[in-house]
Amino acid sequence: MAALSDECCSSSLEHEELNAVIEELSNIPVDPPSKRELCNNCSRPVSVCWCAYLPVTPLNIKSKLIILQHPSEEKRCLRTAKILELSLASGRCKVIKGKKFSLNKNVELRDLVGTSQKTLLLFPSTDSVELTNVDLSVPHNVVIIDGTWSQARAMYNSSPDIHSFTKVEINVGKPSNYVIRTQPTEECLSTVETAAITLSYLESNPNIYEILTKPLEALCSFQLKHGAVHHFSKEYLILNGLYKKPITRRIKKKLRKHQDIKNYIR
Ligand SMILES: [Zn+2]
Repeated sequence: MAALSDECCSSSLEHEELNAVIEELSNIPVDPPSKRELCNNCSRPVSVCWCAYLPVTPLNIKSKLIILQHPSEEKRCLRTAKILELSLASGRCKVIKGKKFSLNKNVELRDLVGTSQKTLLLFPSTDSVELTNVDLSVPHNVVIIDGTWSQARAMYNSSPDIHSFTKVEINVGKPSNYVIRTQPTEECLSTVETAAITLSYLESNPNIYEILTKPLEALCSFQLKHGAVHHFSKEYLILNGLYKKPITRRIKKKLRKHQDIKNYIR
């Protein structure tokens, strides 16, 4: 009887122990603690935060920058529009999220049109003017569409109100510094590079380019150190026979004739 009672006791102890273990296990979060601490300012993990590369005093510029951002762009962890928001003085940079924009719905856009500043839309097209031909005697509003090429085109097409802005293109002739994300062509620039080149020119201050792209360079070098792969543009990969996905018949034809393929890469 005593033995039975002991057995009883020991099994109830085991049961308690088991319960304790189960309780302990149930307190462990389902997701292992992989969530890294994020910087409050740039929202990047603290280990790759680029805030130290931001200007000490945000840049006060005459131009006003409006970034029309595709909703999926915001989710990309390497988004660069944030660099602009944090580098420019308060009220000089505004990000508007959406896929369609109209003067009726977007107060910020309507306000731009109401000012005496001329509004430029960074968007290469058949009727765009080269940046260096823009008249510098008046201050400008600058509108940039932030998204992939196909998103930017769709956003432009579904926003007729922005078609009247003076379309501007940048001819840089050098590959983007933003090496982490594959750009469609060698001349495709990230949002921050586009803004940096445009504002340096409009404000006649080459330092602006250096200041605005410093956090971008830091971001790229962090990412490369953390195992990201140097991305060449799609154009570079195709021209060097390194592109792994199928290419269109049109591009093949252009390649055979040794013609420029830039405009056919999406
Ligand atoms: Zn930060």
